[in-house]
Amino acid sequence: MPFKSLGLSDPLVKGILATGYTAPTQIQAEAIPAAIEGKDIIACAQTGTGKTAAFVLPILNRLCHEPRSKKPVIKALILTPTRELAVQIETALKGYGRFTQIKSLTVYGGVSIQTQLKALQKGVDIVVATPGRLMDHMNRKSLDLRSIEVLVLDEADRMFDMGFINDVRKIVGVMPKKRQTLLFSATMSDDIKALTTSIQVDPKIIVVGQQRNPIETITQHVYHVKAEQKTDLLVHMLNDGEMNSVLVFSRTKRGADKIARRLDHAGVKTVTVHSDKSQSQRMKAMEGFRAGKFQVMVATDVAARGIDISGISHVVNFDVPAYAEDYIHRIGRTGRAEATGDAITFVSDDEKDHIKKIERFISKKFKFETYHGFDYAGFTPATSEAGIKSYALPKMAWSGKKGGGGGGRKSFGGGRPGGGAGGASRRPGARRK
Ligand code: AMP
Repeated sequence: MPFKSLGLSDPLVKGILATGYTAPTQIQAEAIPAAIEGKDIIACAQTGTGKTAAFVLPILNRLCHEPRSKKPVIKALILTPTRELAVQIETALKGYGRFTQIKSLTVYGGVSIQTQLKALQKGVDIVVATPGRLMDHMNRKSLDLRSIEVLVLDEADRMFDMGFINDVRKIVGVMPKKRQTLLFSATMSDDIKALTTSIQVDPKIIVVGQQRNPIETITQHVYHVKAEQKTDLLVHMLNDGEMNSVLVFSRTKRGADKIARRLDHAGVKTVTVHSDKSQSQRMKAMEGFRAGKFQVMVATDVAARGIDISGISHVVNFDVPAYAEDYIHRIGRTGRAEATGDAITFVSDDEKDHIKKIERFISKKFKFETYHGFDYAGFTPATSEAGIKSYALPKMAWSGKKGGGGGGRKSFGGGRPGGGAGGASRRPGARRK
């Protein structure tokens, strides 16, 4: 299906083609026509499905058709939980909108507010914001939301997780009631459902792929290892497999720094990203990683959602995330937009309960693998099924059209069936070209 058949105007179709996309992803094919019609939308879509374009394009399309005043007023607000995501959305707006006159501004904390104030004074059509900094602007009265026509809540589940819900409610409270509201979330909790009923009218529900199941392009591996041997195993894997672009997750900032130091010591080019780093350090780190200057980037969960680097070959969970949802957010950094990827999780004895929680959450059992050629130093790693023998599958809490993850999603890139835990002694990078 070509982009033109979705009802997008010519300059936008040109902008998309110039970006290099040839066909819409499933979420784009389903959400864009409904959003152009003016409907409210709840889209349950995993990371990497192309959801950013699914809300950015209808907004640009609407503004293309509206008369423009000399000094633009803010007609669309996109709220997103992290600065990195805000930057990624801004890049999408600028890219797809390159043949339009529409002006957008990104507003997030950790950088000087002055530049943002100046841009707001000149006038913008679209603001992309993290809730905290947007509240600062609202308190200063430097930004007026009374002309908002479209509100997007991006990664709504993460905004809840990060404690932004009260800010979101306050922000929504000052907007016109008559507006279009588009909500995107990887998972649908009761909190989010309650929010949608209070801020949306008769929303169209779109579910892409199976809710909760990690996207199908990712192959998942789980290794049982002694906590103190995790770094050695990581170094062994990095030296052995074709692991070119590896994102390693650590639960804590101190842990991330420690892993990075040990990898550096082992001669692996490594960079870290966490909330103690300044915005410019984080951007620089990501640019370096993207450009291939570093083989490994070590990050904490807070940094996880904003990272959009295509071509991450492996995600390594150095420790098992304590929250099952974070597992999906972490591994979603690889396998972005249909490319394939491997997710590797190291499990020490004290983390087995976390693995069980993840198994329940994603309705899938893992198998512990052993890594060939690695000296476990007397430790006998489990190789059987991880977690629990049997459990009831959680009910799908969300009704609506199930995308099934096939069909239109194969329109670009290859894909190998994912989710297979694989047999023992497999090299996670071995099949990659
Ligand atoms: P998102 O889920 O919005 O974070 O998008 C994931 C990745 O898919 C990003 O790197 C996008 O640039 C890319 N992408 C989005 N739409 C398309 C498309 N129609 N064709 C190819 N790549 C896309």
